[in-house]
Amino acid sequence: MRLVILSQRPSLYSTFRLTEEARKLKIRTDVISHLSCKLIIEQDRPQVIYKDEELKDVEAIIPRIGASSTFYGAAVIRQFEMQKVYTCVSSDGLLRARDKLRSLQILSKSGLHLPKTGFTNYSNDSRNLIKAIGGTPLVIKLLEGTQGLGVVLAETTKAAESVIEAFNKVKARVIVQEFIKESAGTDMRAIVIGNKVVAAMKRTAPEGEFRSNIHRGSQGEKLILNSEQEEAAIKAAQAMGLETAGVDMLFSERGPLIMEVNASPGLEGIEKASGQNVAQAFIKHIKSKA
Ligand code: ADP
Repeated sequence: MRLVILSQRPSLYSTFRLTEEARKLKIRTDVISHLSCKLIIEQDRPQVIYKDEELKDVEAIIPRIGASSTFYGAAVIRQFEMQKVYTCVSSDGLLRARDKLRSLQILSKSGLHLPKTGFTNYSNDSRNLIKAIGGTPLVIKLLEGTQGLGVVLAETTKAAESVIEAFNKVKARVIVQEFIKESAGTDMRAIVIGNKVVAAMKRTAPEGEFRSNIHRGSQGEKLILNSEQEEAAIKAAQAMGLETAGVDMLFSERGPLIMEVNASPGLEGIEKASGQNVAQAFIKHIKSKA
């Protein structure tokens, strides 16, 4: 079997671990930067050229596409899909997951619970938007933000109005979301592979911080999901059309609330916190599917 991992650097923790586990199972594995691939489109013969060679006999790909290269990454995945190569993240799934607003719309349509969320076309009537969400405190999120950057907690209506207006002024699109106080600086991340949760962790933010991203200094600890949380995570990945995903959820009185579904979840935090060999679970799944 030949596996290609689409990643910008072989030394990145997740890429390294996936390569290591694939090679343990004697799978020929190449790490290839999708940004260096050339796509040749002609009738009945979609090709991917890497350096000066056509990539042939590839049976499976694992896309590890960063947020800054979604467009080109999706095009490369699509080219492999046209060749009937198995991918654990479809091009459509990747594009869906990278659009925060569209993701929330898809998830809500699937009957999943989410924090109440509002979106406008840079409306300057922020007061009524805030009212429709249920008032403050509320969370304002840049649509293009990642790793907690551009996620703001506004405690008062005045503060919320100022932040929304400032973002509108610079034409930065934001969503406005009910603040889930029960989660208070914590959230959960579940790794879904196939129709199973293979690992989960609870992330806790440092004192005084409400965002529990690992990149913001949060600590992860192993979490055993209850059946409601597990079902929500699996359903969220399925709704997004992702066979493998990292599903972020908030704890709330009304059960787990889906925050985001990640198409390229990092493996370092979850492997360390859960003690599970997540990279091996990925590879075994891909091997069984390809
Ligand atoms: P990013 O995609 O940039 O990581 P998130 O939407 O995941 O942004 O938000 C970052 C963090 O902020 C989350 O991990 C969570 O701890 C906190 N958070 C986000 N939304 C809410 C919310 N509606 N209520 C409470 N906390 C939230």
